[in-house]
Amino acid sequence: MKVIHKSARDWRVTPNLVDYDRARASFDWRDVPDVCAGMGAGLCNIGYAAVDRNAEGSAAARTALRFVSGAEGEGELTIHDLSYAELGSFARRFTNVLRSLGAGKGDRVFTLLDRCPELYVTILGALRNGSIVAPLFSAFGPEPVETRLQSGVANVLVTTKALYEKKVAEIRGRLPALRHVLIVDGDQRDGGDATRGFWPLMDAEDDDAPIEPTTADDPALLHFTSGTTGTPKGAVHVHGAVTMHFITGLYALDLHPEDIYWCTADPGWVTGMSYGVIAPLVHGVTSVVDEGVFDAERWYRILESQAVTVWYTAPTAIRMLIKAGAELAAAFRFPKLRFIASVGEPLNAEAVWWGKQVFGLPIHDNWWQTETGGIMVANTPAFDIKPGSMGRPLPGVDACVVHCDEDGTIHLVDEPDIEGELALRPGWPSMFRTYLHEEERYRKAFRDGLYLTGDLVKKDGDGYFWFVGRADDVIKSAGHLIGPFEVENALTDHPAVAEAAVIGIPDPTTGELVKAFVTLKDGFSADEHLRRDLLAHARRRLGAAVAPKAIEFTDALPHTRSGKIMRRLLKARELGLPEGDTSTVERGAKPDLRSVAP
Ligand code: AMP
Repeated sequence: MKVIHKSARDWRVTPNLVDYDRARASFDWRDVPDVCAGMGAGLCNIGYAAVDRNAEGSAAARTALRFVSGAEGEGELTIHDLSYAELGSFARRFTNVLRSLGAGKGDRVFTLLDRCPELYVTILGALRNGSIVAPLFSAFGPEPVETRLQSGVANVLVTTKALYEKKVAEIRGRLPALRHVLIVDGDQRDGGDATRGFWPLMDAEDDDAPIEPTTADDPALLHFTSGTTGTPKGAVHVHGAVTMHFITGLYALDLHPEDIYWCTADPGWVTGMSYGVIAPLVHGVTSVVDEGVFDAERWYRILESQAVTVWYTAPTAIRMLIKAGAELAAAFRFPKLRFIASVGEPLNAEAVWWGKQVFGLPIHDNWWQTETGGIMVANTPAFDIKPGSMGRPLPGVDACVVHCDEDGTIHLVDEPDIEGELALRPGWPSMFRTYLHEEERYRKAFRDGLYLTGDLVKKDGDGYFWFVGRADDVIKSAGHLIGPFEVENALTDHPAVAEAAVIGIPDPTTGELVKAFVTLKDGFSADEHLRRDLLAHARRRLGAAVAPKAIEFTDALPHTRSGKIMRRLLKARELGLPEGDTSTVERGAKPDLRSVAP
């Protein structure tokens, strides 16, 4: 295999992490600088570390967030800068808005917004207030929005007029805990008492808002992630996670104060929150925020015109850039770009090499997930890259490969290159602290003192980790985790559908594509008209990011004898792979419901 050797010539600045082995051997979490030290002994707040500390310090005049919009077609980019001082002032005013509404520590503040300034102001102001921030992806349809607002017991929602009308107004009656809806483009009393204007409330407040004296163990963030069964899991993160955001910003993203940094992830997902909002602000760098959607030419133009130095993106986006062709890339110059990282899905070796060709820089893949709150395994500037590998555990992170017995006993896989589940030893500060209202589900994620990630990996003889696949049926499409159960539920709500099973099938661009198999109720015919109707129904309910892209009608779905749909078998059949152990498959067309466990 060809390895990308690192040498001092590859670095345009001296990296924060130069000697990986030494840093790992001597690492102690207690030695990491306390980014909340200015709050007073024992206190910790992400909002303080991200904005107050910089707004009051030497970074006050520096641009914190650079909002970029426009440039569709031949148009020009429009730039709107917010300095650390301005962002701090807005965040403090929003803290006062929440206080004026009676929303305090522990209350849940949800956002359903595109990447606009108000999103960042809300997040930071609410964190300062000790409220728990739960961001929702604005492309979710009404159903995922309702499920998350309900299970997170939302008290305040900040959104836009259009998103409110399309996704929330209808379900508002089923959300008794939702006391306030603030509309960022709304008036004083938009829609009667149902909603209030965000800016009229902001205008009524000053920016003198002492920070809530939270500690490292107080809950700060709620991120929903998908499982195979049941409703989405609400992973709760604490303010102390900011230590992880700080150290990984140093080691895995190599942030330096003068950087112009661009994280392309939306803050509705954990990457966009941890590394699109928190880490860059904690490091006092300038963050580019693209308000628009993906367009290859526009992205190259942003990288070039904003002189981005550190870029954190995702495999689907990279594959779309590759697809757009070398000619387009050659029309731009990136002399300032010095570090590229990627996360969210497997980054194929060709993509790493493509980075070398187009930018003169390899792409540094790294691995983490909603539950870990921060980067765990990474290709850092400090060691050679084996293209296709996720890298090695960061200093302070203890990762191993395990095999789980039938009876639940865990065995460490010691030999190299043997497949097993990736497990992490708890102790890093951004570890999730529970699944909201689901303590049992949380406990089940741990065994023998290890957190089991649900990912299958191999570790090679040099300690590099290689992603193999998910250990469960969860689908990863365009970097987003999709729970098959949520999609199946929306489909079975359609009057024609008897049963639905949803799997991910490989797709060259998005990694996986959501495909549904459905059986129909008597009296409905499996024709093109119904297929289109079902696709539209799912899209309306779930939103484009989650809805299936393909639907196949079938006479029967494979079940276990206890009535569970065997998605694994459907997938094997779809891909022409061995069917594996089918001893539990119910041979009849329908499961024997008498044997369904209560
Ligand atoms: P999420 O919790 O939505 O951030 O998704 C986390 C999941 O994405 C992980 O459990 C992996 O299955 C997948 N993932 C994240 N990063 C990588 C990576 N670098 N390579 C392969 N899969 C990844």
